Amino acid sequence: MRYLALTDIHGNLEALEAVLAEASTRGYDAVLVLGDLVGYGADPNEVITRVQALEPVAIVRGNHDKVASGIEDAEGFNLTARNAVQWTFDALTPANRAYLAALPAGPVVVDDFIEICHGTPYDEDTYVFDELDALRSLETSRRPVCLFGHTHVPLVCLSGGNGLEVQPLESEGADVVTVLPDYKYLINPGSVGQPRDGDPRAAAALVDTDTQRVELFRVLYFVEQAQQKVRRAGLPEVLARRLALGR
Ligand code: ZN
Repeated sequence: MRYLALTDIHGNLEALEAVLAEASTRGYDAVLVLGDLVGYGADPNEVITRVQALEPVAIVRGNHDKVASGIEDAEGFNLTARNAVQWTFDALTPANRAYLAALPAGPVVVDDFIEICHGTPYDEDTYVFDELDALRSLETSRRPVCLFGHTHVPLVCLSGGNGLEVQPLESEGADVVTVLPDYKYLINPGSVGQPRDGDPRAAAALVDTDTQRVELFRVLYFVEQAQQKVRRAGLPEVLARRLALGR
C-alpha cells in the first residue's frame, strides 16, 4: 500500500493541486490527512471539496479546523491567525463547517505500520519543537511510523538502539527514509500550503508499507496565484508574503 500523507494544507488550493499532480506521477493508493485543511489561505471551501473527493482512509483535525468550525475559541492564536480564522469561519459553508467540526481528534491508527496525529500522539495541539517532545511522541506512538504535522517543518526522528536520532533532510528534491526494523519513526512531511522551513515549495510524503520506505518530496506551485487570492480576500498581507519566503 502506498499512502499519500498531506498536512497543513491551510486553504491553499494551488499548493494542494501541485502536490496531487506530483503524487499521481509517483503513484499512490490512498490518502492520509493530518489536519489543518483550512486557515490562512483563501480557498477553504475548495480545499475541503478536493480533500473529500480524495476519500481519505484516515484523517484527523488540526487546531485551525477546530477554531474555523466554531467548536473551539481562538485563544492561543496570534492576531494574524485569529483574523484569518475568523475570515475562514465566515467564508465556510455551513456544510463545510459541520464537516470540519466532525473530524476526529488524533492520534488515529491507520494500519499495522502507521499512526497519524496533528501535533503529537499524546496531545493533538502540542508542537514538536525539541528533542524532549520528539522522544515523548516516539514513546507514546503505537506504530513503527507516526506521521504528524502542526509545525510546518519537515522532520524525521527515530528512536531505537542509541536513543533519539534526528535525521537531516536534503534541501533539494525528495528525501527517502528506509524504515528499519526495531526502530520507531516520527515523521513530519512538511506543510502543503504554508511551508515554514525557508523553502516555499509545497511539501508532502508518500509512505510505502510494502517497501517500508517514506519519500518526502517538495513541489513548485503557483505561489503568485495563491498570494493574489489571499490579497483579494482581504486576508492579512503577511499571509501572502510568507508564502513566497516559506516562512
Ligand atoms: Zn498548521
